Parts: sequence; C-alpha cells; structure tokens
Amino acid sequence: MSEKALIKDLKTMLGNDRVLTAPEDKVAYSYDAAVVEQVIPVAVVQPESEEEMGMVVSYCHRNSIPLTVRGAGTNLSGGTVPHEKGIVLLTGRLNKIIELNTEDMYAVVQPGVITAHLAKAVEKQGLFYPPDPGSQAVSTLGGNVAENAGGIRGLKYGVTKDYVLGLEFFSAEGNLIKTGSKTVKCVSGYNLAGLLVGSEGTLGVISRITLKLIPQPPARKSMMALFADIRSASQTVAAIIAEKVIPATLEFMDKFTIDAVERFSRAGLPTDVEAMLLIEVDGHPAQVEDEAGKVEKICRECGFIKIRVAESEEERNKVWEARRSALSALAKLRPTVVLEDATVPRSKIPNMVQAIQKIAEEYDVKIGTFGHAGDGNLHPTILTDKRNHEEWKRVEKAVEAIFDAALKLGGTLSGEHGIGIAKAPFLSKEIGRDSISYSMRIKRALDSRNILNPGKILWLNGSYRE
Ligand SMILES: Cc1cc2nc3c(=O)[nH]c(=O)nc-3n(C[C@H](O)[C@H](O)[C@H](O)COP(=O)(O)OP(=O)(O)OC[C@H]3O[C@@H](n4cnc5c(N)ncnc54)[C@H](O)[C@@H]3O)c2cc1C
Repeated sequence: MSEKALIKDLKTMLGNDRVLTAPEDKVAYSYDAAVVEQVIPVAVVQPESEEEMGMVVSYCHRNSIPLTVRGAGTNLSGGTVPHEKGIVLLTGRLNKIIELNTEDMYAVVQPGVITAHLAKAVEKQGLFYPPDPGSQAVSTLGGNVAENAGGIRGLKYGVTKDYVLGLEFFSAEGNLIKTGSKTVKCVSGYNLAGLLVGSEGTLGVISRITLKLIPQPPARKSMMALFADIRSASQTVAAIIAEKVIPATLEFMDKFTIDAVERFSRAGLPTDVEAMLLIEVDGHPAQVEDEAGKVEKICRECGFIKIRVAESEEERNKVWEARRSALSALAKLRPTVVLEDATVPRSKIPNMVQAIQKIAEEYDVKIGTFGHAGDGNLHPTILTDKRNHEEWKRVEKAVEAIFDAALKLGGTLSGEHGIGIAKAPFLSKEIGRDSISYSMRIKRALDSRNILNPGKILWLNGSYRE
C-alpha cells in the first residue's frame, strides 16, 4: 500500500486533525528515552475512543501496516521507536478514569491516564496505588502495564503486574479481548493479562485496565543514612533485607549522583559523603517505630556516618522529589546518557556495586549509580557523547560487561525498563535460544502478520528485521 493511500484511509477513519503527517510531528514520535536510532513513521494517529483504537488496529492488520502504540514515550529501551513503514498510535486522548470503586478497592482506567493522576485521585479517597516509576508525572498506565513498570516502592509493594486485575485489549486482528475481572480472585480462562503485562505492545493493544487499590498505610518514617564509603552502604542494604525488615523504599545513590542531584534540585542533600541510602518504612505506627529502630541499628553496625529523619511531610517530599530527579540531573552533565537497570538478587548488591566500579575503570567511562537497591535493581548510568565514536565503543563494551556481571551474579538484564530494541540483542544470554523461539511461536500465533510493534523484545539472528 502506498503512503498516500494509507494516510487517506486514516484521515477518512479519524478525521484530518487526528492524523499527523507534518515532518516535525513525525520526528517528535520517532524516538523515546532510550539511546537507539530514531525511525520516522509514515503517520501518527490520535484515536479518541476505544472503538476508534480498535478500528485502527483492525485496519493495520488487514493492510499489514506495522503499528507502534505510544503513551508518554518515556520508556528506556526503544519500545516506542516505530517502523519506517508503520504508524504510531498515541493513547493520550484515552485518558479517563472510568471508575474508582472505594468499596471493592479497584479502579478502571483508559490506557492514556497519567500514572500520578490516578495516584492522586486514589489518595483523595484514602486509598493507595503504589507503583510509582520515576516518570510518574508523565508516564501513562498503558505504558506502565506494557512495560510492567516498577518504582521506588517495589520492594514492599511490588510492581505494576501485582495490581492488574483485568485488561481489555485489541488483538492484532482488532478483536476486543477481555481478561480478568474486578474481583480479587479470578481464574476463569488463561491468564491473558499475565501475558500482556510487560509485552511492550507486541501482543495486543491495551484499551482498558482494571487496577487493584489498597488502603493507605497509616504511618511512615523517612530516613537518610549517610556513608563514608560505597561498600558500607551496599552492605547495609543486604543486612536490612537479611534482618527481614522490608522497608517501603530502600534507595541508593553514589557520590557522583548525589552531587548531580543536589546541583539540580537544591534539596539540601549532603555532598561530603560517598553514598547515601534513602529509606522509608510504613505501616501501623508501632510497626513503623520498630522497623525504623532496626534500620538505624543496622546502619550503625554497618558503619554509617549518621542518619537524618525527615521532620515534616515537606522535608520528606523534597528528598523524594530529589531522588526522582536523579536521571534528569545526570542527563544534564553530558550529551548522551545510557541508563541501565540490570538487577541482581538483593544479597549480591555489594558485589554488583563493586563490579560496576571495576567496569567504569576498565572501560574508562563515567558511571553514576543510583537505584532501587532494596530490589537488587541498580541504575548504573553512563554519561557520554555518542558522537565520539571511540568513547561510544567503550560505552557499548561497558554496557555488555554490566549485563554479564548481573547474569553472573544470578540476576537479570532488566528489572523494570524492558527489553525493547536496546536489550534485544542480549536477551538470549539470559533466557537462551529455546526460550526465545518459544516466545516467537506465541508472537507468530497471535500476530501472524507481525504488525504489533515489530522488532521489539525478540531477535533470533542478531536482527529484528526477520
Ligand atoms: C526519568 C525517568 C524515570 C523513570 N523511572 C522509572 C522507574 O522508576 N521504574 C520503571 O519501571 N520505569 C521507569 N522509567 C521508564 C518508563 O517511564 C516506564 O517504562 C513507563 O512505564 C513508560 O510509560 P509510557 O507511558 O511513557 O510508555 P511508552 O514509553 O509510551 O511505551 C512503553 C511501551 O509500552 C507500549 N505501550 C504503551 N501503551 C500501550 C498500550 N495501550 N497497549 C499496548 N502497548 C502499549 C509501547 O509500545 C512501548 O513498547 C523511567 C523513565 C524516565 C524517563
């Protein structure tokens, strides 16, 4: 089909205003937050209803047009980089919270609802939606489900998959599939929601999401533990978990990241320490006091310099906002920022921190490390300039070395950022060729024309152009 005919059909379906074809629009949707080559799509469409979304999917199937769905485009793995012969479908106008049920504690939302908007609406009702990616101010719930996003509360509260009760999505053919329910328990039929969560737009187009909500914890305490060396901080993480204390958050920042964040946010972080842990415990007030006491004792035993407890809600929010700005703060320092999320069993955090330091030295690259240490999920962030070919080659080698180190420690390539294009060449290192070809059989069975976000996740022969 010619590009002209495709655009004409889309305009007939959605109207002229909701089919973007101007070069500046197409460029804006040709990349995301990952460092991968951008690809200009043929057109960008903005359905306003779930029905229109289904019409676009069905049309793409009938005409074998590659289709990439895009929420906010904040993913860090190239998951929304489109196909050059394909279109991008934006979910931004499908942004309604359809139902917020406080009695049965669930919410039904469209995929374009911004994560933080739901969290705020839920909070007003005294309830809690815990998954909180650092991008929550702009990321969408559809994108969160498709990436199985985590966040700083993953340690105690889990990740997006733990809150998905049900989904509605369009199959590659454009048929509306419903799975799961509004009940806490449901085992009717295959767990299709389980298949769709984390599928990065490759198995279906999500049109409606039912999410579990939980009660707000009645009390919480936020602490900032400061360390004179990285090793003590990383050992503290392992020791807290070994003591069977599960804080709501247990975040790590190295000195390089602390300095960058403080320059960026002016939150009053101390810049004369080598590492910092941001710890929050929550729950019943007595439990909070008990766990905070245990955490402080462990920090002392592991050799902290001191611990600061947030005295007010304002102080707490300031520090957490600063933490959430870590990537943006680091990104200001060099033209290219490569953020990884290799994850290891929690007891192996000290080994992984050490491995990252060695890799930085060996390949002579600057790595700032922060992340969800309590989940074993660090974000080694390489600051570089992709235009410097010699340096970029070293960066690529360092990235692969980070993956290898994580796998050697019994970990994974990606704790929460997904595989997309960026990590697809490395996936077989972790799951093996048989698992990839099994997954490909699922993909082929469900999307025989390979229209749904082709080239993401699965590469068998070193390329996604099958
Ligand atoms: C500053 C920053 C901080 C971040 N912090 C975190 C963090 O703490 N934890 C974390 O897990 N991630 C984090 N991320 C990564 C990213 O924000 C998450 O992956 C998020 O879930 C992406 O949401 P999005 O709306 O931007 O999705 P997009 O980037 O638009 O899309 C992501 C994937 O989902 C697919 N998709 C989107 N909507 C649909 C749909 N309706 N149906 C089917 N497929 C769909 C897309 O095709 C793509 O493959 C961060 C990113 C940034 C830039």
